[in-house]
Amino acid sequence: MHHFHYSNQNLHCESVDLAAVARLYGTPTYVYSATTIGENYRRLADCLPGLDVGICYAVKANSNLAVLRHLHNLGAGFDLVSQGEIRRVLAVGGDLSRSVFAGVGKSEDEIRLALASGIMAFHVESEPELARINHVAGTMDCVAPVAIRINPDVDARTHAKITTGKSGNKFGIPLAQAERVHEALGKLKHLRLRGVQMHIGSQLTEVAPFVDAVGKAAPFVAELKQGHDLEYFSIGGGLGVVYHDALASGRAEWWNVQAAGQRPLTPETYGAALAPLLKPLGLKILLEHGRFITANAGVLLSRVEYLKRSEGKNFLVIDAAMNDLVRPAMYESWHDIVPLQRDTSRRALIADVVGPICETSDCFAKDRQLQELGEGELLAIMSAGAYGFSMASRYNSRPLPAEVIVKGSTFELINARESTEQMLANEKVPTFLRG
Ligand SMILES: *Cc1c(COP(=O)(O)O)cnc(C)c1O
Repeated sequence: MHHFHYSNQNLHCESVDLAAVARLYGTPTYVYSATTIGENYRRLADCLPGLDVGICYAVKANSNLAVLRHLHNLGAGFDLVSQGEIRRVLAVGGDLSRSVFAGVGKSEDEIRLALASGIMAFHVESEPELARINHVAGTMDCVAPVAIRINPDVDARTHAKITTGKSGNKFGIPLAQAERVHEALGKLKHLRLRGVQMHIGSQLTEVAPFVDAVGKAAPFVAELKQGHDLEYFSIGGGLGVVYHDALASGRAEWWNVQAAGQRPLTPETYGAALAPLLKPLGLKILLEHGRFITANAGVLLSRVEYLKRSEGKNFLVIDAAMNDLVRPAMYESWHDIVPLQRDTSRRALIADVVGPICETSDCFAKDRQLQELGEGELLAIMSAGAYGFSMASRYNSRPLPAEVIVKGSTFELINARESTEQMLANEKVPTFLRG
């Protein structure tokens, strides 16, 4: 569920008219609903009743400081994948003792920073990484907490670019090798095993791959628990969200209607299917969801530049582009696109919704049916709160977009649109080219 809805034909986020946000801060601008983020967080935190659950929000999904501070206030820890993400969490007063450091390429500097900041654990992806963390911890005269990331070799049945738990992906240690790693750990004096982790992919819409993966990993986890002081099992993130019918999915009754037939994967279904496998382990369970918490809590506001009518084809050219939101270009993903002002008396328009970038892949939707829209009118690209701004770039020398957060009837700018000066600040022409 989420808090984007029409009121008097005007699209609102909570009690804020989104046209007012666009007028004040311009477009393209991301807008997030704080209430939606909070509700999504709570649903996850409550999805495994009777178990000790910790949420490590995957910062890469949406790393704005306001979003991180909001989740920190709610009690979240964080799943971190770079020095920059660690510094973001420290910047909002976040405490690394509930956060984990993941990723296949941790540098020595990053390991040092995480250790100095009191990280809960490193999620280790390979034997050479174990050796490196052991070495760095040795130079700092401390013991590094680690968890082994295992690759359970299951097909997450999601987009190939975001599948991570199949043998042949770069992630994790195959279960067959994990035994050997376990032995290696005994010889590395500056490491302490705290947990086991896995993450099989993103935007999963069925529960079966999660059940398969946990089922394959559970015996290994139970065995490791015999010889070590294991504290937790992290089952990763990956819970998918509904990108189609984004507005309808905001209504409470929609979930009940869906329950009768085809139903999206909810935290409740996910939790109910996994609880019987997790309970016997007697461990704390970590969840590392990113997308589920922020995706439907954000939209990208944009303005129509032109309606271009070509032979047999219409193009709605808008001021947002693939540099602002890359998901359609990169993963062929669907986002609903809706007008900020709904007018049911207008004719329908079938058009490709495209950005100004000089590349054919700069396209948000193909042959999409929309209400007829003209120059200067506003629209919202829905479900853009995860992997939206965090993947934005400056391609075509377009400045990074603005970000705004809404809570009830108030809203505030949380990231100003980048200026040209900021964009050019670190560049210079070398002396030998100054004629
Ligand atoms: C990306 C990632 C996540 C979060 O994935 P979502 O699909 O956003 O929930 C969690 N854990 C790890 C290790 C990741 O790489």
